[in-house]
Amino acid sequence: MSVPATMKAARLHEIGKPLVIDTIETPHPLHGDVLIRVRACGIVPNLVNVLHHYPKVAAHLPLPPLPAIFGLDPTGEVVAIGTGVDGVHAGDRVYVNPGRSCGTCRHCWSGDPIACESYTFNGYFGFSHLSKKLFERYPYGGLGEYMTAPASALVKLPECVSFNQAARFGYIGTAYSGLRKAKVSPGSSVLINGGSGTLGVCAVISALALGASRIFATGRNRGLLASVQAIAPGRVAVFSLDDGNFFDWIKTRTSGQGVDVAMDCLGPGASHIAFTEGLRSVRRGGHLVDVGAVSGDVSINIGNMMVRNMTLIASLWFTTEEGRHLAALADTGQLKLAVFEDVSFALKDVNEALARLDSRRGGFSNFVINP
Ligand SMILES: [Zn+2]
Repeated sequence: MSVPATMKAARLHEIGKPLVIDTIETPHPLHGDVLIRVRACGIVPNLVNVLHHYPKVAAHLPLPPLPAIFGLDPTGEVVAIGTGVDGVHAGDRVYVNPGRSCGTCRHCWSGDPIACESYTFNGYFGFSHLSKKLFERYPYGGLGEYMTAPASALVKLPECVSFNQAARFGYIGTAYSGLRKAKVSPGSSVLINGGSGTLGVCAVISALALGASRIFATGRNRGLLASVQAIAPGRVAVFSLDDGNFFDWIKTRTSGQGVDVAMDCLGPGASHIAFTEGLRSVRRGGHLVDVGAVSGDVSINIGNMMVRNMTLIASLWFTTEEGRHLAALADTGQLKLAVFEDVSFALKDVNEALARLDSRRGGFSNFVINP
């Protein structure tokens, strides 16, 4: 495929202002990198927050220098390959894990790049001042026609997974990694708080793919909860928080013991009540995982957790290897990507897409940009 000298990209020039479609030079892949023709890029609800408010409300999470190309979850085709890259070919269909790390610290060497002090979300935000270098090396997010990425960040997609579906891998991987850390396996019982939301629906299909036999999903909207139950009616039960607290509901369905794992998918701003009810609903020796970032200090009786031999896990994102698990599970039909309803936009309509995010049908809508 011939690569044009210039490309279109949506760039943020000023915090809080609309993205601007600019024509810029198409990049060349550096050593160890590939060039990708972006076909889809997922946009998550928090992107609006990042573009409008992060420098004020999350100053510890630095943005790339402006003007910047955002876009966290890109998918596309490999079109050019830099030096020092083996095993990747032009035409490969891929998801690009946006997690970037230094590649030379002990965490990177030991296969735990998320622990790297330089860890950075390409096309989104970083986690410390060390992200500056990685933003310089990888300034291209998914909201452009082309982007560069390290070959080590690529997840090859099977034919049965569309570019739009794979653009959802970010939140699916986040839920999947958290459930793996909590040792969810065939036969497990799992409570998912916020089960009808963007992260929650991903957690439900991930728990199903890992073999959980019983999934208890909580939320508010009864219509959305009915759709969550319909994903696997024999294995998924739902509870509306409008009906009160769910502790007794869980206990009566788990012989009084509680669930093996509770996963909290509620985002910042959610009440702490569901989180602490989730903790109460975990059995002796079980695990509570947070992937939604409930904000502020949460009251936890750590002594009680100790005598019950329980584990609390806060889990960020997922590794590229876990992304490869998702591709394999989708290929065999265990990961049910068909639950998502694509809502797709051309690159020129990216601001309209961002404005319409509030109209999504809970976690079922899959908002994507097709550059
Ligand atoms: Zn590192």
